[in-house]
Amino acid sequence: MSKGYKSQSFKKMLHQCVWRVKFIILKHYICAVKTTIMAKILIIGACGQIGTELTKKLRDVYGTNEVIASDIRKGEPEFVASGPFEVINALDFNQIETVIEKNGVEDVYLMAALLSATAEKNPAFAWDLNMNSLFHVLNLAKAGKIKKIFWPSSIAVFGPTTPKQNTPQYTVMEPSTVYGISKQSGERWAEYYHNIYGVDIRSIRYPGLISWSTLPGGGTTDYAVDIYHKALSDGTYTCFLSEETRLPMMYMDDAIRATVEIMQAPAENIKIRSSYNLSAMDFTPKEIAEAIKKEIPDFTIDYTPDFRQKIADSWPQSIDDSSARQDWGWKHDFDLTSMTADMLEHLSAKVE
Ligand code: NAD
Repeated sequence: MSKGYKSQSFKKMLHQCVWRVKFIILKHYICAVKTTIMAKILIIGACGQIGTELTKKLRDVYGTNEVIASDIRKGEPEFVASGPFEVINALDFNQIETVIEKNGVEDVYLMAALLSATAEKNPAFAWDLNMNSLFHVLNLAKAGKIKKIFWPSSIAVFGPTTPKQNTPQYTVMEPSTVYGISKQSGERWAEYYHNIYGVDIRSIRYPGLISWSTLPGGGTTDYAVDIYHKALSDGTYTCFLSEETRLPMMYMDDAIRATVEIMQAPAENIKIRSSYNLSAMDFTPKEIAEAIKKEIPDFTIDYTPDFRQKIADSWPQSIDDSSARQDWGWKHDFDLTSMTADMLEHLSAKVE
């Protein structure tokens, strides 16, 4: 009787032990999944054209409280109230470090920069902002305070001596704008910090980006957003580039998805640590006007090229992005026709 009782309580103990071990394993597994999937994220320059959309997408994917939006200025009240928000100057190392330490941030998306057209008006400040904000984030990763960085480069890294059609990943790069010089230098430093200090930095050379929900921030491809707004409000548009100026472009939905996908890819798939060429479509102002005319037949366009023409003339017309497609599975969704339909549908709904 007592022997049977002892063996019964031994079995019960063994059973409890097995469950305890299972519980501990499960707890560790959940923690591991949480740290890989739910790393705290900080976006610097979140109130801009890309940052606003990126913040929304990252919050959809990882949860509102996991994504801290920050900018030197407070954006739209609705945006600021939509989740954690901090005022951060990307040139202030201590401010960035404090927010990272206070919140246990692991991934930083550095979107603050002076864009191509604005940078030409203030070259010294553009160099300061575009380079030193990058150094701050690189040095925080080098010191082990963050794990992963996303930093965007641009087609502006190419210059007048670069082959213009189907521009390869590796080619002549002699940028002639301060913006392009800062992006090219940034790419070199990104690769250096990866090779020498093991920093996990990932980057895309965005083409011109087009979105309906946010306005562009002073780039040479801004006309491709303005044209849709003016087509709906005035039925006519005066373009600051000539009618045959062909440039590589991408719809914001594709650009945001690419950004999330490159950051989620296993580290060993990211073979290029300077920046990846990325492509979706290329068109001229005349071609985008024709696409709009199919939806708004009375739309008219005229051309008055300004200082931005010279910048556009120094850039590629189309991009070879086969490395991104091969290494981390990049694939675009939108072309000129589908983008035009989507832009006009969303902008008309906004106006109504
Ligand atoms: P944007 O100008 O719309 O936004 C930049 C944001 O950075 C703004 O909200 C601004 O307030 C903020 N900012 C400026 N100075 C700051 C500072 N000192 N501290 C903190 N925030 C500061 O730019 P965007 O179009 O969203 O571009 C984001 C990134 O993508 C930039 O690096 C840009 O070079 C790159 N990029 C953009 C395009 C494009 O077509 N939009 C194309 C290629 C590359």
